[in-house]
Amino acid sequence: MRPAPRSLLLSAALLAFAAGVPEARTADTLATLAGGRSAGPLALTHGGVGSGPELADGPRAAADTALKVLLAGGSSLDAATAGTVHLENDPRFNAGTGANIRLDGKTIQMDAAVMTGAGRFAAVGVIERVRNPVLVARAVMDSTPHLFLAGEGATRFAHRIGFADVVPTCPEAEAKYRARMKRLGELYARTDTTIYDWRRYWNFPNPMPADVLDWGKHGDTVGTVARDASGRFAATLSTGGTSVTLYGRVGDVPVYGCGLYAGPAGAVACTGEGEEIIKRFMAHAVYEKLAHGVSARRAVEEAVRAFPERFDLGLIAVGREGWGVAGR
Ligand code: ASP
Repeated sequence: MRPAPRSLLLSAALLAFAAGVPEARTADTLATLAGGRSAGPLALTHGGVGSGPELADGPRAAADTALKVLLAGGSSLDAATAGTVHLENDPRFNAGTGANIRLDGKTIQMDAAVMTGAGRFAAVGVIERVRNPVLVARAVMDSTPHLFLAGEGATRFAHRIGFADVVPTCPEAEAKYRARMKRLGELYARTDTTIYDWRRYWNFPNPMPADVLDWGKHGDTVGTVARDASGRFAATLSTGGTSVTLYGRVGDVPVYGCGLYAGPAGAVACTGEGEEIIKRFMAHAVYEKLAHGVSARRAVEEAVRAFPERFDLGLIAVGREGWGVAGR
């Protein structure tokens, strides 16, 4: 029997939802660790480490969207793609429409990736001027012999196959940019700070705004993992990247084995400090635990525990018999 679609608010530190978990209930209390056993179609989404509970309806609706695809007989890849597209179209999250505006006040560069449990993988890095980077990653998988297209080549590929040439911004992203610049101004005005000076290596195509300063923040990146009725897995991720970086910075999201991973034993998606996630091959490392029979909940919990406390990390995972969420 198919499980009834339900959703569960899991975490304040990592905003994530599971849909399709029969025993799930809507929780008002927020935790940083959740998971359990479940069989059948399952979709799990996250709205980024650091996103506040006021955004909870976003990943909840995205999980329900993904689950609908599964219950209609769709594949785990279709479901994971639909969940992430839903969040790319929600201007409150740092992906697609709501992607971070970078330091110059103009540039938006996005990363996205898709992977199936059968080992198919594709990604786009620092792509610009498209609304749904995850759909471009999917197109790289379906229509090219490549694993990874980056920069202008990725953008031109998207436009060549019919994606609209649009700068995917919105008032929400502009407001976040203004707030960030204000905060940067405050930080640079302090004399007791040792923050990195991004201005020294300015490599944006646009001139440096007079008030450009240094402040980094992760958050609001989006992702989905899914298991379909046949027990096949997929994972997708999309991000506008960290808010304060040099032009051309690529995070963990499109790097193979780092931001996401899927195989016959499950699917994993990360959010958090991209550089640190890359150094640990994080998604693949969690997947290896699943492949060795560790439950999804324990696998994500162990990985978050082992991560240095000063860095943000959020993980969602689905295995053959269960699901797990951990973050801080
Ligand atoms: N991991 C993403 C990156 O480093 C950011 C995030 O998850 O919020 O690009």
